[in-house]
Amino acid sequence: MSKCIICNKTPQGDNCLTEEHVVPEFLGGSIKRKNTCKSCNSKMGNGFESVVEKSFIFQLFSYRYGVVKKSGASKNPLAGDYDVDGRKIEFGEDGEVKVKFTGFEEVENEDGVTVYSAILDESDIDMAKAALAKKIFRKGGGDGETISRGQAKKIAEKFISENEFKKESYRPHLSKRVEMDQKFFDSLVLLFVKVCYESLCLLDPGFLSERVPQQMRKSLDKHMLSKKIESNVRFMSDFPAVDDYLLDGQNYVIFLGQYCVMRLGPFNAIVILESSLEEPSFLASPGVKKSRHGDFTQFIAFLEENVVKNKHKSFAFPPPPFLS
Ligand SMILES: [Zn+2]
Repeated sequence: MSKCIICNKTPQGDNCLTEEHVVPEFLGGSIKRKNTCKSCNSKMGNGFESVVEKSFIFQLFSYRYGVVKKSGASKNPLAGDYDVDGRKIEFGEDGEVKVKFTGFEEVENEDGVTVYSAILDESDIDMAKAALAKKIFRKGGGDGETISRGQAKKIAEKFISENEFKKESYRPHLSKRVEMDQKFFDSLVLLFVKVCYESLCLLDPGFLSERVPQQMRKSLDKHMLSKKIESNVRFMSDFPAVDDYLLDGQNYVIFLGQYCVMRLGPFNAIVILESSLEEPSFLASPGVKKSRHGDFTQFIAFLEENVVKNKHKSFAFPPPPFLS
């Protein structure tokens, strides 16, 4: 029986080899290989992969590109309740904005007349009628006079249908504060290491005995980045020219010289392998279509010019400070 590519052990008993997605499913990846033991597979899935998947930025990516996960269609991570301009706003899965009905304001004016007012969404009119009827019933008529529930309901109906609504189209400015902590970045680096390592396993298993792939494997086995590997992973913070060759939301994994150049979701990174595969190899997650320019050789030439021919110190895309 074959060994697991992560722990390097021959699986025993219940711990059989299972199918592993090279590029995770939450990024739309569908290349699978049965070369990882159940234990390693679930440790990675519940560990760093899950941290990345649950992060706001990747949830937004999956939603934007309509990735269908095992659990179904990606949800809109912006959906939820917001407090804006003193109003309660509900931002729906479909992007609809709704002002939530929070009840009627009750003010008695100088003449002793009770004035009711509320901000409400058209869809809440029935709810508002019921809420107002309840208020009127409790309040009773003038001079402590009681009124029946039926009467209260009629008054509320009349009030709402006869009163003019001041209609407004409301476009609130919704904002959400998102924090990406060290745990997220560590997990993200491990994800890039995993995709690079597992792609190597597919393309050139003979390469795996080299120093860098072995260190990648050990980091994945321990779920901890070794300092050595961390310094081999560089994020490309600004690489807009890549977008000329790729479709929006397209992942890619390319081995070029001693570099593995990748885009996973919204991040671009390279792994420095220190030795080279024999020829450039391309592995991308399916769902990836032909490049917009339709010319993959041009894309390779572009990457060679910008990545391979430059020493990594002079990249046009310095790594963000968290990695330097
Ligand atoms: Zn294993």
